[in-house]
Amino acid sequence: MVYVEDVHKKFGHLEVLRGITLEVQKGQTIVIIGPSGSGKSTLLRCINHLEKVDSGRIYLEGHLVGYKEVNGRLVELPPKAVARQRAEIGMVFQRFNLFSHMTALENVIEAPIHVRGVPKKQAIEEGLSLLSKVGLADKANNYPSQLSGGQQQRVAIARALAMHPKVMLFDEPTSALDPELVGEVLTVMENLAYEGMTMIVVTHEMGFAREVADEVVFMDHGVILEQGKPEDIFSNPQHERTRTFLRAIL
Ligand code: ATP
Ligand code: MG
Repeated sequence: MVYVEDVHKKFGHLEVLRGITLEVQKGQTIVIIGPSGSGKSTLLRCINHLEKVDSGRIYLEGHLVGYKEVNGRLVELPPKAVARQRAEIGMVFQRFNLFSHMTALENVIEAPIHVRGVPKKQAIEEGLSLLSKVGLADKANNYPSQLSGGQQQRVAIARALAMHPKVMLFDEPTSALDPELVGEVLTVMENLAYEGMTMIVVTHEMGFAREVADEVVFMDHGVILEQGKPEDIFSNPQHERTRTFLRAIL
């Protein structure tokens, strides 16, 4: 479903991704952990082409993301084509990035109507059903300022789902939340995973990783240092750096 092949990325002289290869099968949930600055967010941003890679390739369902191949060389896709690809990739960030002047429902139906051309009536029906799926049926007409952080984040998830993405990327979706609000967001994500959504999740929530992840990926200094089933990574980490990291956060 998602294939990241030997991706390198620098910011100036700083090598942030140093040869990342990662395969995510349809329906899998991959949890990425690792110290601050190890390149986790950059990797997610490369996957939906918010950042350009310096070398390597990223495929979504067999299609190159951001580029097409012409005579063996990569040519960047025009913005419209990139936007079309990005519409297939749902992304939820740490900070709730809802439109503040729109209600929860308006946030959810905006892209389906304007990007996908879904008729308004249908978008509203679907939007309401997505809001009810994330437990917010009664908040459809609230503005973001009238919602808790956890509720805002659940609207952000509903908004991403409204585009029928092939894969969902989560970048520390709960780390800006008050502790008592973390669970409600994780529950929504857990349900999504069990429904078969393909997900790549950067999180420090090890309980979630243990319960939900098919694989846990430990990143350090721009490389994947180790990767495996949660039970293996957590009970039997192979690298000293993984052990140190886990000791610090568990
Ligand atoms: P955290 O756990 O703190 O979110 P991370 O693993 O997500 O960390 P990244 O945000 O991917 O790390 O950043 C990796 C490195 O790249 C950091 O040193 C960061 O300062 C640097 N970096 C990220 N984005 C940029 C940018 N746009 N310009 C320059 N440097 C950047
Ligand atoms: Mg980050």
